[in-house]
Formats: sequence, C-alpha cells, structure tokens
Amino acid sequence: MAIVSFNEMLQDADKRHYAVPMFDVSNLTMMRAAVEVAEELHSPVMLAAIPVDIEGKSLDYWVHSAVYAANQVKVPVCLHLDHSSNLELCVRCAKKGFQSVMIDASADSFEQNIAKSREVVDAISKLGVAVEAELGHVASGITGAENGMSENGHSDDCHTIFTDPESVKEFIERTQVNALAVSIGTTHGVYISAPKLNIPLLKELKKSADVPLVLHGGSGTPQDQLSEAIKEGISKINIYSELTSAWNSAMKSFLNSREEMTCYFSVATKQADAAMRSVMREKIRMFNSDNKF
Ligand SMILES: [Zn+2]
Repeated sequence: MAIVSFNEMLQDADKRHYAVPMFDVSNLTMMRAAVEVAEELHSPVMLAAIPVDIEGKSLDYWVHSAVYAANQVKVPVCLHLDHSSNLELCVRCAKKGFQSVMIDASADSFEQNIAKSREVVDAISKLGVAVEAELGHVASGITGAENGMSENGHSDDCHTIFTDPESVKEFIERTQVNALAVSIGTTHGVYISAPKLNIPLLKELKKSADVPLVLHGGSGTPQDQLSEAIKEGISKINIYSELTSAWNSAMKSFLNSREEMTCYFSVATKQADAAMRSVMREKIRMFNSDNKF
C-alpha cells in the first residue's frame, strides 16, 4: 500500500476510532525506525518534516529518503510538513511529493490565521495536497520542541490559547482546510507536570468540526487522557520530544560509558535507535493504531 493520501489516512482513523501516529523525523535513521515499527505493529504512520530539517537542498535529501522508506513497507504511509509558517515552503513541499502540510498561523489574529491558511489551501489543493491548520494556540512550553524551539532547546512561547468552539465552523468554512489542530491542554516539548486535557471542550469542538481533529504536543500526555481524547474525536497525534529525548539519553549514556570515541557510527547509535523505536511502539499502542493493516 505504502503512500496514501492524508484524507484517506485520517478518515480511516476517524471511522475506526484510533489516532494516526505522526512522528517528526529528521533523517533516514528516524524514517526507517518509524516505518519498520509501523510495519511490525500493522499501523499506519505519518512521517513529518520540521522546517529546520529541510532548509535548502536538505528538502531533496529528506523527501527522497522518506519516499524510499515508505516504499519498503506495506502499511499506509503519508509524508507531511509540520509547523510551517511559510507559504513558499508549503508549495515547495507540495510540489516535491508531500501528501499534506500544516500551515501554522495560530499565533496570529483570527482573521490573519484565516487569510494565511486559505492562501495555502488555494495554492496547493489543486495539486491534491491536503492542509492542516491550527485554531487556538498550542504553546511550546518551557523546553518546547517540535515548534518554536531555539538551538539550545528552550522556548519562550509559553502562551497557550484554548480553541474557541464558537469559531471552529467559520474557520473551517472560510479556509477549507482538511484537518484542524486544536488546543485543549497539551503543550509542545517536555512536561514538568502531566497535562490535563479539557475533554468537555474537545466534545464541543468535535460537534462543530466536520474535518478530522489533530492533537499537537502529544509527548508525555498520559495514556488515559490520550485514550479519552481519541474516543472523543482526535484522529492524529504528533510526537517528537519523546523521540529526541529517548535518542539523546541513550547516546549520552553510551558515550559516557566509553573512553574511545572512534567506534563505528552504526555501533554508537545502536542503543539510541532501540530506545527511539521503543517509544514509537509505545505510542502506536497508546493510539490504538496497531493491528489495523
Ligand atoms: Zn505541533
């Protein structure tokens, strides 16, 4: 099956009450881990690029690696651009073969968010590429990742705005987006204390939205809350921070245990790769997307 459309992937999740795991993947090692774990657990998977990883010529390396990885497995795979605030980047990715992009104008005013999201829809829907936008704002927290993270891994984007259920219908009608990221209590990055999702708000949002709903900042959200969110209509959950955290921690302990720094790259990264795959497995099971294909 390999590459499928964004709409097809999310509609199936909505219909069969699971959430598509979207992993932000920076290189072939992460892509390979994501598709192999998805294949092993019979789950669909979305491979997402973050803008910092696809600057300049890096986009070509990213997309060729991702298409190759997708074609090695039988489960459905979708290539997605995560958190772009840039129309030109959305168009470049759409033309390179991505199935979907996220335009993030959630920090702008309601009218500006509509205008920017609609501009992307108008530019790329004719290419058959789907668009996700965000209404309300999922902040990046204290150690935010996936979105708005600076080079030292810290963020000053701490201002969460919950999605207003009154605005959802108008936003979707005027933008014509294919999926909506909502803010119901998660934050990007690593949590200091567990988040508390606003499930009653999610129920309201689901009633007003006729497109699939997306949860950002899924890393670190407890299982019971995620299960509840999926039951009430979340069809895609984004994961990044827990992948990098698992990888970096395993690399650190491996490197600290050695005097010699000239070992083979594939040997040095073995434990980190295993740790990251184990997080991917855990998330797929948490999202109930296993055993679907
Ligand atoms: Zn996000």
